[in-house]
Amino acid sequence: MDASKVKYIVIHCADTPPELDIGAAEIDRWHKQNGWDGIGYHYVIRRSGVIESGRPLDINAAPGWQTVTGAHVAGMNSQAIGICLVGGRHGKPDFSGQQRESLWLLVETLKRIAPEAEVVGHRDLDKGKTCPGFDVRAWWANRGQHGAG
Ligand SMILES: [Zn+2]
Repeated sequence: MDASKVKYIVIHCADTPPELDIGAAEIDRWHKQNGWDGIGYHYVIRRSGVIESGRPLDINAAPGWQTVTGAHVAGMNSQAIGICLVGGRHGKPDFSGQQRESLWLLVETLKRIAPEAEVVGHRDLDKGKTCPGFDVRAWWANRGQHGAG
């Protein structure tokens, strides 16, 4: 996937309770247990704010950049980068301050690579979902100041 083909940067949550400290390795295991190829997201943001890689997103490849297609949003995976915030059980945006800060930095970085991409929540693309439990478009428009917890 070339940077110009990225239409969406999609924010998700893991739907895990606040005290559960997991990351990309655990989500990879769960997704394999579901019979999938492994973790569907490109990035995971732990409760501590540490950003971990899921599916490889190789931003150094010439002439544009290559990604391994994600598996996180129905019908749009070939055009979308997926980021998962750990937490958010039952649609509650209980994300830590460090997570919100890391999310902002990561999205801002990805927007410099793919400036045309729209920053949205999973629920904006799939009406049956509540994930990630906050209004991502408003959060982005407010420069990350409100909405994620
Ligand atoms: Zn989701």
